[in-house]
Amino acid sequence: MIIVVSPEATPDDIDVIVARIEETGRQAHLSVGTERSIIGVIGPDDPSLQDIFESLPHVESVHRVTKPYKLVSREFHPGASVIDVGHGVSIGGPELAVMAGPCSIENEKHMVETAIAVKAAGANILRGGAFKPRSSPYAFRGLGNDGLRHLATASRETGMPVVTELMSVRDIDAVCEHSDIIQIGARNMQNFILLDEVGMAKKPVLLKRALSGQIEEWLLAAEYIMAQGNPHVILCERGIRTFETAYRNTFDVNAIPLVKELSHLPVIADPSHGTGKLSLVTPVAMAGIAAGADGLMIEVHNNPEHALSDGPQSLTYERFASMMRSVAGIASAVERTLPGVWAPAAAR
Ligand code: PEP
Ligand code: MN
Repeated sequence: MIIVVSPEATPDDIDVIVARIEETGRQAHLSVGTERSIIGVIGPDDPSLQDIFESLPHVESVHRVTKPYKLVSREFHPGASVIDVGHGVSIGGPELAVMAGPCSIENEKHMVETAIAVKAAGANILRGGAFKPRSSPYAFRGLGNDGLRHLATASRETGMPVVTELMSVRDIDAVCEHSDIIQIGARNMQNFILLDEVGMAKKPVLLKRALSGQIEEWLLAAEYIMAQGNPHVILCERGIRTFETAYRNTFDVNAIPLVKELSHLPVIADPSHGTGKLSLVTPVAMAGIAAGADGLMIEVHNNPEHALSDGPQSLTYERFASMMRSVAGIASAVERTLPGVWAPAAAR
């Protein structure tokens, strides 16, 4: 249920409404807007509460949220959320976020060189995996804590915020220490204990869609994080499994405008995992931005043939720079700007 508070209500008046909500055994999530404040009532749905809340002083209206997710829904937060990820970068505003870097962190020198190259081409967030979910237990599974340190070094050298995957609660302190955004990978989208923990961590979280994740399941996974008090959630469409085997995954472009309609959270398009094929990355990146994505996640490697993971979908530095030029045209068509060198002079 959502309670719209009258514009003249004071903070004390709002406290009275919140206290009444809590008396019913439900939680109140206050969202203070410039014109109006709204209070989300979280807990079991009981239609009889509508009349009770409507009769309270300074309550303008009460609406039942029909969706199973509440804090994530557009009904609860009509404006788009903009998430500050530090180092002067935010996600969800007019400037697109471009997260780029290798699939896996390989060594310090490689990480710093890649960071410098992707930044020069216009990326504003650095990616790299230290804990890698691999289908085979014999494949390279990441450098772990050493990798996190290399990523932090690359962040310091370039001033870019970093995103890296957290696979286990065991590593949450180390990941929070060295990273600006915690990535929850596709395979962990419904690891509910992990979602609870990152909800308590209060750092921005990039929540990837599961391989067979339905939109509602994905938004409910985001709700887990928000329900623990962490509003800084960014969604990432990274392709789903279908009958098609000509590419690794089927990038679901429909999901982008739909999720933006259903939710106020920013959405990132990941055409690298979404296609698994380097020749498809640029056109699908363009499609993602055209469909309304708030940014991109792109795997970049100077020597994809020798990458320790996901070489076939990794762009070289030159191809990444060329992709940025292609995306720049689409970005301006949808009235967004690309960071760094691609921002029109007036927007810098
Ligand atoms: C990754 O970003 O390298 C990754 C493993 O992503 P996903 O969880 O989408 O497969
Ligand atoms: Mn990868």
